[in-house]
Amino acid sequence: MESPVVNGTPKPNGNQLFYELEHENDGDSSNNPGQTDQRDRSESPVFDGANGAAGNSMRMAPSELPNEISAPYEVPQFPIEQIEKKLLIQRQLTVKAAKDLEERRSHYEPSLGPDEIEHPFNLEESDFVPHFQRVSISGEDTSGVPLEDLQRASQMLVQALDIREKYMNNSRQTFPSIAARFLRSVDKRPMNVEDEVQHDDRMAIADHPVHAPASRDPWASDIPPAKNYKIAPVNGVFNVFASEEDHQNGKPIPYAYPDLATFVRDMNLLCSMIADGPLKSFCYRRLSYLSSKFQLHVLLNELRELASQKAVPHRDFYNIRKVDTHIHAASCMNQKHLLRFIKKTLKNHADEVVTCSKSGEMMTLRQVFQSMNLTTYDLSVDMLDVHADRNTFHRFDKFNAKYNPIGESRLREVFLKTDNYLEGKYFARIINEVSSDLEESKYQNAELRLSIYGKSADEWDKLARWAINGNVYSDNVRWLIQIPRLYDIFKLNKLMTNFQEILNNIFLPLFEVTNDPSTHPELHKFLPYLIGFDSVDDESKPENPLFDKDVAPPEAWNDVENPPYGYYQYYTYANMTVLNHFRAEQGLNTFVLRPHCGEAGPIQHLVCGFMMAENISHGLLLRKVPVLQYLYYLAQIGIAMSPLSNNSLFLNYHRNPLPEYLARGLCISLSTDDPLQFHFTKEPLMEEYSIAAQVWKLSSCDMCELARNSVLMSGFPHKSKQYWLGPNYTKEGVAGNDITRTNVPDIRVSYRYETLLDELSNIFKVVEKPDVCTNSA
Ligand SMILES: [Zn+2]
Repeated sequence: MESPVVNGTPKPNGNQLFYELEHENDGDSSNNPGQTDQRDRSESPVFDGANGAAGNSMRMAPSELPNEISAPYEVPQFPIEQIEKKLLIQRQLTVKAAKDLEERRSHYEPSLGPDEIEHPFNLEESDFVPHFQRVSISGEDTSGVPLEDLQRASQMLVQALDIREKYMNNSRQTFPSIAARFLRSVDKRPMNVEDEVQHDDRMAIADHPVHAPASRDPWASDIPPAKNYKIAPVNGVFNVFASEEDHQNGKPIPYAYPDLATFVRDMNLLCSMIADGPLKSFCYRRLSYLSSKFQLHVLLNELRELASQKAVPHRDFYNIRKVDTHIHAASCMNQKHLLRFIKKTLKNHADEVVTCSKSGEMMTLRQVFQSMNLTTYDLSVDMLDVHADRNTFHRFDKFNAKYNPIGESRLREVFLKTDNYLEGKYFARIINEVSSDLEESKYQNAELRLSIYGKSADEWDKLARWAINGNVYSDNVRWLIQIPRLYDIFKLNKLMTNFQEILNNIFLPLFEVTNDPSTHPELHKFLPYLIGFDSVDDESKPENPLFDKDVAPPEAWNDVENPPYGYYQYYTYANMTVLNHFRAEQGLNTFVLRPHCGEAGPIQHLVCGFMMAENISHGLLLRKVPVLQYLYYLAQIGIAMSPLSNNSLFLNYHRNPLPEYLARGLCISLSTDDPLQFHFTKEPLMEEYSIAAQVWKLSSCDMCELARNSVLMSGFPHKSKQYWLGPNYTKEGVAGNDITRTNVPDIRVSYRYETLLDELSNIFKVVEKPDVCTNSA
């Protein structure tokens, strides 16, 4: 693991760092009256039994502590007064630490929502925090920087969190309730009840199986009546008007979204923050601290974590839910699978007409292969040549070319497109094969990306028709729409005159179908399975990442130059925000923004991600921006990482920051990106986990945590997540974890939760009156 280690061993008296080791120590019960009780509720009774012996060797009763000072390693020539003083300080620290812990216990332990307070006697095991050895830091100031610096840093971090909360709430994406609660403590606004996902009544595990019941007809859906709103773009963002008259008067329905000027202001504010020296070093310190703390946690609790996993019957890493949170549909099969599929199709459907050239010349599949001088027998994986290799490193262009089997764009057209002469028949077939593999594996799910280019207005209808005609549905699959940033190409080829046309092609059909489902009936049936939008392309393409509020609006963007990443994201976000309000009002599902972000290129992309995206893919560059990395941690923004993909394109495997992020507690999941290019086996997601586990020596607990994260950050329905993670998964901390489903020990969940609470309270305790109010317009 690459993470920085604590500089030097902390000395108990030197810098006030003091690692309090908490024990299941009966002798200590005078300090902690509740302790013997809790011992009975300890998470892993099996281990506890064994611990009696093992615990003894590590036991260090407080009464023995003073002796430590005169232990052999102590320099003997201290004057007696000095030792006395040291002892005194140590005693004070011990008392304070005990008090801290006591406070913390009373704070953490009941971890029950206010709604349950009426039934104080109905406590269940999961409502209690498990026993483990906690690492805690005592002393007045634990941040290691002067108070002024801490205050200044806190002020800025709180402001940044406030900005994210505003953008998330505006667009109906999620913001964690923990951070929201802390923000309410400074701005004194009431907690928004709507923000919290409403729970069903608690259910016993027996009443709530691990698998959701299979859905029946996925495409059965009634068509609601038309609403007859008027829809028109205003400065690049579609607005909804109640009537034609309102449209003439410029009075849209007031769905709130930040305008371009606000966005630019917030963006600049965040950009100045990430460049701020003192804040940078503050965040860097906190991140280093988090790494070290995790190392200590593992050192002290590894055996307990393992033991509680062992104590769970039936459940193990193989039968917990995993979601491949970032995978492209056009490359979701591995190369062998594609090869087999091509051969099979060539054998059984050789005389099917598959392409029609511009001159009207038809070609059967056999003719296509004849024109390339190929027979079924010639075809091999090597011939297919779709796998990324050392030649694609830092060559996104070469990588893109790998999407063409045998280097022929015609084959990609025939086999891997939804919109071709066969209306994507073969592609639907192979996707269905991948889906049935996933179903067979039972516990694997994928969020496949399909493209909408914004090139023409009928793309959505064609896509929806493809899905329905090919019956491309699986309970294990959900869709995201990837929008390639290709305006410059379209413009160059004279396919459009300005950027607004892309926005029209992408968003107008969605507004129309929401307004009147009968205008696009197929799309209406397809949208419930759509999670949101992804933004794709080579991030390392040169661009000028910053723009001001006077930048040309989309209808005036008629340059051949491609708009910067942030411009694309803002207009996607703003249109999606209005669309979400509109859809939610009609009782329809809403969408989220989950772009590729921080794979390469300018770090401003990650600022956009922080402001507008529910979660992101890649996030590699966070390793270079401590402020953002810390903010992604505090806001628990999901990051779908694909180290094998990075290894072929942008960053060698052993330099990948994943283990470091995971140690620090960022919300990380593992994903495959493009199995066609990167993987060798039939289960690419397992391959991804397996390599990560081997290279980075991940424990079973780490792997299960990654899998749980992947479900949490995925866009699968709330109900499914209840089956997969436990009915109360949205609750904070241990109460939200169900080890019988997730195989993640309560100890780990508790460690993460307490650590996050500590970090947040560290920051929020010194913030009195931040100028956040100016931002929460
Ligand atoms: Zn990708």
